[in-house]
Amino acid sequence: MSCLSPHVPDRRQPGCTKLAWFDPWGGARVRVLAWTCDCLAIVYELCQAGGQGFIRRTLQNEDAPEIRETHRWPIPQARDVWAALLTGRAR
Ligand SMILES: [Zn+2]
Repeated sequence: MSCLSPHVPDRRQPGCTKLAWFDPWGGARVRVLAWTCDCLAIVYELCQAGGQGFIRRTLQNEDAPEIRETHRWPIPQARDVWAALLTGRAR
């Protein structure tokens, strides 16, 4: 099986930023801009809603997926956080 989407690396960089995760806000329509591979138990998505960006984390439990979201940021900042996540500089 080959993976087409990126994986969040196992190894965290020194000084890795610890993201805060909250229950989903719900409400506004969410557009998914990017996502990590779903071959791992935890899938991350870069999302946009109402002109802001955030990251959604889904733990793929068998019965009920556990969903958490970060703070919302301006889109460019959300993209920076996304890039940091994919390179082990944020988690
Ligand atoms: Zn994969």
